[in-house]
Amino acid sequence: MPAAVVAGGGIGGLAAAIALHRIGWRVVVLERADEFGEIGAGLALWPNAMRALAALGLDARVRAVAAVETTGGVRDRAGRWLHRTDNADLARRYGWPLLMVHRAELLRILLAALPAAALRAGGDVREVRPGADGSVVVEHRGGRERADLVVGADGVGSLVRRKGWPEAKGPRYTGCTAWRMVTEPLDGLGAEGAMFWGRGERFGFTALPGGRFYCFAAARTPEGSPVEGDAEGGGRKRYAEVVGRFGGWPDPVPRLLAAVPESGVLRHDVYEAPPLDSYVRGRVVLLGDAAHAMDPALGQGAGTALEDAVTLAACLRSAPGVGTGVGTGVGTGVGTGVGTGLDARMGTELDAGAGSGFDAGLNAGLARYDRVRRPRTRAIARRAARLGAVGLMAWAPGVWVRDLGARLMPSTLPARSMKPVLSWVPPVLEEGPMRGIHA
Ligand SMILES: Cc1cc2nc3c(=O)[nH]c(=O)nc-3n(C[C@H](O)[C@H](O)[C@H](O)COP(=O)(O)OP(=O)(O)OC[C@H]3O[C@@H](n4cnc5c(N)ncnc54)[C@H](O)[C@@H]3O)c2cc1C
Repeated sequence: MPAAVVAGGGIGGLAAAIALHRIGWRVVVLERADEFGEIGAGLALWPNAMRALAALGLDARVRAVAAVETTGGVRDRAGRWLHRTDNADLARRYGWPLLMVHRAELLRILLAALPAAALRAGGDVREVRPGADGSVVVEHRGGRERADLVVGADGVGSLVRRKGWPEAKGPRYTGCTAWRMVTEPLDGLGAEGAMFWGRGERFGFTALPGGRFYCFAAARTPEGSPVEGDAEGGGRKRYAEVVGRFGGWPDPVPRLLAAVPESGVLRHDVYEAPPLDSYVRGRVVLLGDAAHAMDPALGQGAGTALEDAVTLAACLRSAPGVGTGVGTGVGTGVGTGVGTGLDARMGTELDAGAGSGFDAGLNAGLARYDRVRRPRTRAIARRAARLGAVGLMAWAPGVWVRDLGARLMPSTLPARSMKPVLSWVPPVLEEGPMRGIHA
């Protein structure tokens, strides 16, 4: 049985582990944090993300914890609608509406789809290097693992990327700081949502299940500008900062902010990952933010991470000599006391079956993954950057033109123009004939 180590237990890493597990790989997920978990914020799941979740067999579970926004769209700084989006139209065109989930709920569903033995919290990855027998060795806080493949899913500051792509540029500041928060249950808003475009600032909100709302705001700020006294303020300074910036914005923004717990504001500078010449180097592959962290304006970072995960597994399953489930079979937990004796024994047994057929197939499968995923994620990242720049435009005449353009836009244009992103079709993971792998 081929073995993979996934560095990073976020949405991308867990999805990759599920996908590989489903095609018969032995998987270990090493997560740096002492517990698997996600931040207290919402997440938009577009139809392409839902199709990737369907390929993992998880769409129904995610749908059950998601909210569907009824009215949405973009409003100007004065609160006037610039254009409205029609979620029913989106569902008609692409099979799914735009869904909103709490990140923690999504993570809970992903975690439940994996065997407990595959999950190693507190496994901060510190080194990734080639092993003696064509395998890869991963050193982490709890010890050392060997595997046929290492999946770098360790986010925008990826150590796996730094180690495997030492010449690559580090994360690039997008010029904006993001604030995210979830309200307490709030009456009187229905399942409404909107994005307000200001000058160099934007504020959005959308419904979550249970009457709560997810609010997300962004502003052009210098990199690393901290909130004074934030460390000792228990988050209250961040809350005061958000209220100071957005508290005077049109209804319902003040109402929403009043329903946010004072300690509940997340604040992050937003980074994107400069493009790479390949997502694969030897037996190491990158996915999600480690490969292509992008501006969050399009809400596609997690969606494309889910796509990556499903595509990676499909490429490996269809690779000659790999999909058959014969790996070099290296054991995990080598000499660390972390792995089990069974792991080590399986390694020895399966090593005997290792062959160049597996290596060649693995290389071919990974090359295919790179060919399929890099152009698509690059194009989506470029689009996200453009939308991010538009939404945070600060130059007054540009803002006027932007708002006019948005007002004159046909109501179906945003959904239609998203076709290349949203019409993605996942490859099939289960046994049976492979459908094409779509870019
Ligand atoms: C403001 C904002 C709003 C967003 N909204 C949306 C949205 O609505 N929809 C959407 O699709 N996307 C959205 N995104 C993007 C989305 O959050 C990310 O693209 C997605 O979470 C990436 O998942 P990932 O698993 O690749 O990386 P991460 O979520 O960063 O997970 C990486 C994991 O690796 C772990 N890790 C890091 N280093 C190590 C190490 N050395 N060893 C072991 N583990 C390690 C981390 O602890 C973490 O758990 C948004 C992003 C931002 C900033």
